[in-house]
Amino acid sequence: MENSNWERLIQNLTKEGILRTPKVTKAMLAVPRKAFLPESMQQYSAVDTPLPVGYGQTISAPHMVSIMNEALMLETGHKVLEVGAGSGWHAATVAEIIAPSSAPRTEHGHVYTVEIVQELAEFARRNIMKAGYGDRVTIICGDGSLGHPEKAPFDRVFVTAAAPEIPKPLIDQLKPGGIMLVPVGNVSLFQNLLRLTKGSDGKVKEENLGGVAFVPLTGRYGQDV
Ligand code: SAH
Repeated sequence: MENSNWERLIQNLTKEGILRTPKVTKAMLAVPRKAFLPESMQQYSAVDTPLPVGYGQTISAPHMVSIMNEALMLETGHKVLEVGAGSGWHAATVAEIIAPSSAPRTEHGHVYTVEIVQELAEFARRNIMKAGYGDRVTIICGDGSLGHPEKAPFDRVFVTAAAPEIPKPLIDQLKPGGIMLVPVGNVSLFQNLLRLTKGSDGKVKEENLGGVAFVPLTGRYGQDV
């Protein structure tokens, strides 16, 4: 029953044209949100809204994760950085695209995801292990607005919290040819989801993918809250 609710949600996102790429759709189907929610929220897992995961933070809405996973243009083998692990769900969906179980392990990419709230980093780690992505996702507890220099540069970077402006360390840690997504703007209003593409010459092209509403990015390059 619950699985069919999830399947229906993914079908609707496909009909609406939000999910367009078969491997992205397949990954969204393969990683239902339920396993990444606190028990009290699991009944709402297939409702297309953000949901609270504790500590004032939220798991993103399925349509938002779908939009971002499409916009990232992910490929098998990519090394990816997420800022804002939260529940670990978004990272698991990305891992399913860049390191699908069907591809040989030698071709697998990896997701590094940074979470600043220690309890959430632990929550994400437990969820990721239980869901079977422990070999493809690494959770780091710390200030992700500084990126993760130890494993840089990255093919893809995405931020799931609202930044006041583009955090410079994240752009620096993006490979030439890489793509980064970041919601930028005022926390009390909505933000613009920016897609930044770094050319082979290091020049950065900026596109505005539209209005979004994320919780604030904190830390060194975060909001003054
Ligand atoms: N991607 C998550 C949802 C993100 S909510 C999921 O799939 O569930 C945004 C998260 O960003 C919150 O958990 C918040 O604690 C975290 N965050 C905010 N500022 C951060 C920072 N500077 N570094 C790392 N994580 C941060």
